Amino acid sequence: MPKEEYTCVACPKGCTVEVEFEDEEIKEISGYNCAKGEEYVKSEFHDPRRILTTTVKIKNAKYPRIPVRTETGVPKDELDCCLEELKEVELEAPAEVGDVVIEDVCGTDISVVTSRSLDRVAEKEEDKVLS
Ligand code: SF4
Repeated sequence: MPKEEYTCVACPKGCTVEVEFEDEEIKEISGYNCAKGEEYVKSEFHDPRRILTTTVKIKNAKYPRIPVRTETGVPKDELDCCLEELKEVELEAPAEVGDVVIEDVCGTDISVVTSRSLDRVAEKEEDKVLS
């Protein structure tokens, strides 16, 4: 029977958990030390998700980029798509923690939000002349 090994990250103990499966169905789980670990591995097997953290461009702020994250874990297979979509984003300061950057990133029904605030800074003299 095929097997897959996971390191449970639901607590610092980091148990090694083995899943035996057949036709995408779990037959046996071994090596976990608590119910939380069993749930973690089941979810990793059926629907692995990760919180995505990265940065996007921002105009008229002290820094050129601002940190952002997904509100909840996105399916692992969608992480590259999310990063591509975020490459196209450019915010404008000011920004507050929790501002929605993209709703429904890559059709996942999950929002990307800012994870810090950035004030607006004075525009450069040359920018003022052009605008
Ligand atoms: S199985 Fe339980 S004890 Fe082991 S790492 Fe996971 S949460 Fe911690």
